[in-house]
Amino acid sequence: MKTKNKKSSQATILRLKAEQKLARKQKNNKSSTPEADMLRLVHELEVHQIELEMQNEELFIAKEKSELGEQKYTELYDFAPSGYLTLSKTGEITELNFASAKLLNKDRSRLINANFACFISLNTRSNFDQFLKDVFTSKIKQSCEIVLESKNDLPIYVNIEGIADQRNNFCLLTLIDISTAKLAQIHLLEKKRKIEEQAENYKSLFNSIRDAILVADTERNIIDCNTAFCSLFGYSKEDIIGKKTSVFYENETQFIELGQVLESNYNESKSFLHTLNYKKKNNDIFPGETGVYYLKNNEGSILGFVGLIRDITQRQKAEIELLNARKKAEESDRLKSAFLANMSHEIRTPMNGILGFSRLLKNPHLTGKEQQRYIEVIEKSGDRLLNIINNLLDVSKIEAGLMKTNLKTVNINEAIDYVYSFFKHEIENKGMTFTLNNTLPSEGLFIKSDHEKIYAILINLIKNAIKYSDEGGIELGVSLKTSKMKSDIEFFVKDTGIGISKNKQHTIFDRFIQADIADESARQGAGLGLSIAKTYVEMLGGNIYLESQEGFGSIFYFTLPYNGQEDNLAKKINKKPGDKTNTYTHNLKILIVEDDPVSEMLISIIIKSITPKVIIARNGLEAINICKNDPEIDLVLMDIKMPEINGYEATRQIRQFNKDLIIIAQSAFGLNGDPEKALAVGCDDYIKKPLNKKLLLTMIEKHFNK
Ligand code: ADP
Repeated sequence: MKTKNKKSSQATILRLKAEQKLARKQKNNKSSTPEADMLRLVHELEVHQIELEMQNEELFIAKEKSELGEQKYTELYDFAPSGYLTLSKTGEITELNFASAKLLNKDRSRLINANFACFISLNTRSNFDQFLKDVFTSKIKQSCEIVLESKNDLPIYVNIEGIADQRNNFCLLTLIDISTAKLAQIHLLEKKRKIEEQAENYKSLFNSIRDAILVADTERNIIDCNTAFCSLFGYSKEDIIGKKTSVFYENETQFIELGQVLESNYNESKSFLHTLNYKKKNNDIFPGETGVYYLKNNEGSILGFVGLIRDITQRQKAEIELLNARKKAEESDRLKSAFLANMSHEIRTPMNGILGFSRLLKNPHLTGKEQQRYIEVIEKSGDRLLNIINNLLDVSKIEAGLMKTNLKTVNINEAIDYVYSFFKHEIENKGMTFTLNNTLPSEGLFIKSDHEKIYAILINLIKNAIKYSDEGGIELGVSLKTSKMKSDIEFFVKDTGIGISKNKQHTIFDRFIQADIADESARQGAGLGLSIAKTYVEMLGGNIYLESQEGFGSIFYFTLPYNGQEDNLAKKINKKPGDKTNTYTHNLKILIVEDDPVSEMLISIIIKSITPKVIIARNGLEAINICKNDPEIDLVLMDIKMPEINGYEATRQIRQFNKDLIIIAQSAFGLNGDPEKALAVGCDDYIKKPLNKKLLLTMIEKHFNK
């Protein structure tokens, strides 16, 4: 409307100006007249008025325009999606739009003059303080991120930008809510952290697994491995990543073969177990059990392989040991069964002899010769039975680990002479010769050893030589073998008997072996003697071995270590049994301490064969009193197991008033440690029951032939 008015005013002005021009022309052509001048003036006034109107109109239009702009600006400001607000220098809100009010969660009107900082959460308030300071000092646009307090728990993240006005009195801020982006970012970061944490957990799990783990790609290049792998193979991770797995195989063929298995399994991709020999960095080879697994992506394509390798060296060793132990247990079970069967025979046979011939002896019409023969059988059967019982006792002590050595100074010459004289009669009675081959120095050779065990070894070997020979001779020998490294005393027992076939030679030292080999030529025995001898020899630090030829005889050797230190004291104590000067055993006064009448009868009969001066005590107390009252007593044969005061205690008390009296302990206990105990309380010697007459008399002779 206004534009239309404006256009008509402009047309009027143009028309009036044209008329003015015409009037001026006419005036120039004709001389001016008062009417013409008047007319011209009127025109000019009209034009001026129209121009004024036009100016007013334009002014009006301009004003209208400016009002419209301001309104638009206000609307824009008020309803802008971003927050705008104006702050004083001290942070009070002087102006703000709805978006700002919404962010601050309050009525717009109530926010005027409120301090903006009050709406900011504590942890970002210092950011804002710095920002406001920078805005007023820098005069350029500043920005910062703050968190606004919110009624619900969700924080409002706001990005603010601000600039101060020209006069630095206030500043204009724009607030942009970045919560959605920020929360998404936080969520993303949290997710990333969780993934990283998970990856870390997997990594430590991977490294804490005790089996070696290897990850390889489809070309069998190593991608990863765990700590156990590095320590098992001796490589560092850097050493092996990127290398071919072939470096771990004992040989190329194994690598190729496994490759073929892997490929043939591609379609099914089923994990499988295999065992092969692996090579460490130091080229050591070990058996490894490996579980192979295929690595696939989501689409099911194979990315590579995972190998779980376990070193099974120990397991294989244990399996072999278990197998051997089982074999041994089965073997020992078989041997024990065979042993029991044999033992039954071994015990029954002498028992049969003893009982059978004892009954025969009852016949009053027997001739003296017949009686002697029967008694001999009973005696031999008894010896045989005793031998079996002794061996069984020794084996059970060895098995229970109770067999100990009792090391003392032993004169080897004395031991060998003693054994020689002990068996000489028996062998010669069998119609064979018995020779002694002793190359040791005649003054004696002394070693620290267990003389009981040395006797037991020699007795076992000589008994076997007698048992397995019917004619010819037996030779007992001893010599000193010295090499650069060491010196050994070598003993040997040689016979001309049945000999031992080559295939049996390696087993005869095993327990119960006699029973097992079903040796038809084996005479009597439980197959224990040699195993006991071997154990004793080894306990004393030596070796036992043999040379034998079937049908020609055997030589059993054993050695004992000799350290070359002669024990002079021992020389004085140990006496040779063959030294028969000043024999006066037939004058001895002997006290027999024995509570069992049968044992006392036996021992009395033996003793009376050398001296008539025999006194009997039935218990320990009686023995002490007799010894106190009769200084003539030379020897006490002290039983150990007696009621009230036993042999140990009686000896201990006798020693308090008589140190010189010879006391020989006699015991049926047969337990390890008995001889040591007896010697400890003051006995001079120890003899096992049942008493062997020869042994007892030799022992007595040893103590009195000085
Ligand atoms: P045994 O009580 O059977 O004699 P040993 O352990 O003493 O038990 O001996 C084991 C086996 O060794 C005997 O059964 C016998 O076959 C053989 N043997 C031992 N000594 C001799 C030897 N001197 N001559 C021949 N064979 C022997």
